[in-house]
Amino acid sequence: MKYACYCRVSTKKDEQLDSLETQIKYFQHLAKEKKFDIYEIYYDEGITGSQIKNRDGYNRMIEDAEAKKFDVILVKDITRIMRNTLLFLELYKDLQKWGINLAFTNYGNMDIETADKNYLTMLASFAEDEARRLGQRVKFTKDITAKKGRVPNIVYGYKKIDKYTLEIIPEEAEVVKRMFDYYTNDKLGTARIAEILNEEGILTKRNKGKWSQKTVIDILRNRLYIGDVINKKSENRGYPETRRVQLPESEWVIVKREDFRIISDEQFWEAEEILDGRKYQFHANRKRERQSYKYPFSTAIKCMDCADPKKNSYYSFRRNVRKYSKSGKTYIWWCCSYRNAHGANSCPNTITIDERDFEEQLITFFKSYFLDNKKSMSEAVLEVLKRKLEEQNQDVGEENPEDLSAIADEIDKLEKQKKNYVEMGGEGIITFQEVREYVTPINKKLEELKLQYSRMNNEKNIKESDINKLISNFFENIEKTIEGDKINNQYLKRLVDIKSRHDGAIFIDLKFDDNEELKVSNLPFNELVENLKSEEVAN
Ligand SMILES: [Zn+2]
Repeated sequence: MKYACYCRVSTKKDEQLDSLETQIKYFQHLAKEKKFDIYEIYYDEGITGSQIKNRDGYNRMIEDAEAKKFDVILVKDITRIMRNTLLFLELYKDLQKWGINLAFTNYGNMDIETADKNYLTMLASFAEDEARRLGQRVKFTKDITAKKGRVPNIVYGYKKIDKYTLEIIPEEAEVVKRMFDYYTNDKLGTARIAEILNEEGILTKRNKGKWSQKTVIDILRNRLYIGDVINKKSENRGYPETRRVQLPESEWVIVKREDFRIISDEQFWEAEEILDGRKYQFHANRKRERQSYKYPFSTAIKCMDCADPKKNSYYSFRRNVRKYSKSGKTYIWWCCSYRNAHGANSCPNTITIDERDFEEQLITFFKSYFLDNKKSMSEAVLEVLKRKLEEQNQDVGEENPEDLSAIADEIDKLEKQKKNYVEMGGEGIITFQEVREYVTPINKKLEELKLQYSRMNNEKNIKESDINKLISNFFENIEKTIEGDKINNQYLKRLVDIKSRHDGAIFIDLKFDDNEELKVSNLPFNELVENLKSEEVAN
């Protein structure tokens, strides 16, 4: 048996562990131990983030593989391959065609694992999740560079400078803030808010007139206040239909402009929840549902069609039981509880999930993808989580305890300043108008700093060293979830979110930490299970 070995070499000098020399020694040692011949050790240099600069070694290896110059490709360190799983899946297909095996090995041990299709599919799903998120990111940047963030002409709180630029008018921004505060904190109705503004003689922007419920709601609904400049909400459909068509949110062009922000995300989405009447329904639901853990899927399957995932307020599936005759079989199925309660027009999700079938499928899924490949899966998961963490860190910027305490100091300082101005106002040293003038920019700065502070602080909650612990918890949870070949509802919910869509697609989110900061989203459950089935047939 002739082996081709493939590895990637870091160009960073300090990564001694990865030096080419070390790797060659490793492969030679392994070949001696496992008694195989090395045809060649192929390698590529230069790993920058998720990109390999050059793939000469890789390409040469593929050419040689096609020419059948060796029998097995042995790849060092599966975690490295994760960065290009889709590519490797392509490779895998070709290799099968050419009759060449693919195997993995890792540092620190002498095991060689043959890559099986299930495992690779799982990796591909991870990779797709990554690609999707990267795709979003790319789109986002492109939109900004293309300057598609065209701003509206007249919006309360802003002055339009040019096509792409707004300037916050502090007095109006204060009114916007008060409206959100009235609504989310003081729980005032929109009619009452309009009344207060009218009593104070504050005028609307467009018509310079009185506030109504509708104009108040327009403010509370406007995502510009959280810095989202939204274009392409609708589109002109030409001949023969000359009308404006509303587009789904996925097609909107959204450009993030933090400099336009007046309201925090948290407060804004809370307002949306109240406006939708979802918040209360959701809580009412939760209360009722909290009682039952005894069924495998209690509050574990979410309907994707009747709630906005952004607000994280899904409706759960509910359990139904029917017995057709006294001695006959009992049918148990799960369906959207909202549709079930509010009728066919309330939600398009008509999917029913057979309890026993689904329980079996889930158990098989956890076993075949995770428990049967525990070692390699934990490595794959480790890599995914590490990268997610890395990405989060990048989003926030360099973390540094000194930065954190500097921000805390700055917050303290500004709070004191603010208090001074307010006191001066109270004592009549300066006018109320002046207080507002001084305090408004301070408030703005404070909000920014607090946001930054909490982000930097949150990010410290998960350290790279914690990830191993999270992964071992994850596998423990899997074992507890399927103990005795039954689904344990409580452990299941710690482990995954299950989401059902009207077209029959089921998605699984894997959860690794309590705050769900490290989450692998939207694994296509049906496809993964189908894969297992075809594998069974093939064997
Ligand atoms: Zn539904």
